[in-house]
Amino acid sequence: MVLRRFFILLLLLAVPLWPSAAAPLADSLITTIEHLEEDTSTPLSLLQAQQQFAQGNATTADYQFLTFGIKEHATWVKISTHNPSTRALRKRLTAAQTWVESVDVYLVKEQQILYHWHSGDGQMADNHLVPTLGYVFDMELPSGDSDIYIRAASLDPLVMPISLTNVYEARALQTKVHVSMGVLYGILMALVGFNLLLYATLKHSVALHYSLYIGCFLVMNFGYEGFAFSWLYPHSSSFQNYSTLFFMVLHGASGLLFVCSYLQIPLNKSRFRQWVTSYSILGLIASATTVVLQLHILTAWIAFGFISLTTLIMIVVALLNVAKSVDARYLLLAVSFSMLGLLASSLSVLGVIPYSFYAYHGAEFGVVSEAIILAIVVAFRLRNIEQERISAQYLATHDPLTRLSNRRAFEAAAREFLQQPANINKPVSFIMMDIDHFKAINDSYGHHVGDQALYHIATLMGYQYRKGDTMARWGGEEVAILLPNTQLAAAVRYAEQLRLSVQNSPLIAESQRIHITASFGVSFCVNHGQTEILHDLYIRADKWLYRAKNKGRNRVEPSVDEVNASVPLAIL
Ligand code: GH3
Ligand code: MG
Ligand code: MG
Repeated sequence: MVLRRFFILLLLLAVPLWPSAAAPLADSLITTIEHLEEDTSTPLSLLQAQQQFAQGNATTADYQFLTFGIKEHATWVKISTHNPSTRALRKRLTAAQTWVESVDVYLVKEQQILYHWHSGDGQMADNHLVPTLGYVFDMELPSGDSDIYIRAASLDPLVMPISLTNVYEARALQTKVHVSMGVLYGILMALVGFNLLLYATLKHSVALHYSLYIGCFLVMNFGYEGFAFSWLYPHSSSFQNYSTLFFMVLHGASGLLFVCSYLQIPLNKSRFRQWVTSYSILGLIASATTVVLQLHILTAWIAFGFISLTTLIMIVVALLNVAKSVDARYLLLAVSFSMLGLLASSLSVLGVIPYSFYAYHGAEFGVVSEAIILAIVVAFRLRNIEQERISAQYLATHDPLTRLSNRRAFEAAAREFLQQPANINKPVSFIMMDIDHFKAINDSYGHHVGDQALYHIATLMGYQYRKGDTMARWGGEEVAILLPNTQLAAAVRYAEQLRLSVQNSPLIAESQRIHITASFGVSFCVNHGQTEILHDLYIRADKWLYRAKNKGRNRVEPSVDEVNASVPLAIL
């Protein structure tokens, strides 16, 4: 991402200066391509242009992919063709990229103009515009020699991928290109959507900034490939001319924002971040102002200037952080993918490798690879953060030894439950369990066996957990259970069941069967929603527990018999 833009800029600047020695013309019907620049703001007529070409004022191009950078004056291209067959051939000329402002094409044979078309994004989008491929013109190329003159003007970088192809091949290419772009956009949109979803659920700004950054690239690309113009606003040429340039600035600014949050450069404290924010806002304001004032060439210079400076900043930031963080290394890895893509584009543009759609659009495929790598890194980072949050939350609410809830979580959950209107005026019971002579287990077998015993009993009780109850380790070797909608008799029966299971399940430790018993105190009330109810239940259950201990342990108090006989109970 970082270096890609830098290379794009280099490409735009370097290609016009590329020595004319490279690849031969690939199209067999084309004999020569020459170009010249108008040196006045008054447009040349076709006749005047022809005279200039005849006077030898033109430069001969040895490759078909012409780039001229940002020029105020129009450029003329003369394509000399030779059709060796005896009949006219149906051909499609691709004359200029999708963002060219004005393009005139003349097919001339023996000083006779056979066709003249006018198109470009300075007027409404017409059927010459084929998104991604450029401005195309279908013609009957006459037998023998004929010339095609193109006059193209653009206040954006002028790129003319000249080709003369069979109309049917051109249609197949068009389909292939549009399907490929659909897949590409689909992947990017899925990544944007996925990260927006991550942001909505996890609220981590890096996911939002990723979506913004890739989203801006999508909008920008959709604009400069001509999809937006031919589909969304075919009648608004000024929107077409300015929106892409503005989105370039927005894309640069969002890239900076993403890199800052990706590399976790602190938000408010860092001077760098404040500087980056001011710089981005300044760029956006400058771009918006020139858009409003309709200063096209200035908007273009601001867009390209901003993106190149932004790129330099990003390179420096990424390199400075490479040694510090693994994420910065992933960033460089992601960037190297887009650079490889760009290299393919550059080599294809320069004619070093044969022109093909995939090579020429390598930069875009590189961006998709970059976006996928970054999305994976962001997703993993968010997953780790989420796991840390979950485990911190678990540790805050659970007892690590028994894995039961801790007392704090129990009290919070019980209070919330008891306050809920649906649980008001309903019976509620409370059981307090305490292991008998637990100190003796510690003393006889060691503390580690005491720990095993605690885990053993907690697991036993956990197996018999009833849905809806709240169970927690209350303290040392005590477990508390809150039983909603449970009458005293049912709670006592349940406690009795737990007591029996403890009694009948000795702990096997140190090659010995260690018999463990526990005592239980049970309290009950009707929940009237008072705040002190939980404390009250606990105090009374603890009193019953004390009685169970006094009566010889391994007991439930009040006992099942007492409750069934409806004996008035002293402490309840
Ligand atoms: P009683 O039958 O009256 O309840 O006797 P007890 O020995 O179980 O009761 P006491 O309150 O005297 O002893 C509780 C012991 O539990 C004391 C403490 O060292 C031990 N204990 C508390 N927490 C842990 C723990 O996490 N692990 C181990 N191994 N022992 C613990
Ligand atoms: Mg005890
Ligand atoms: Mg105790």
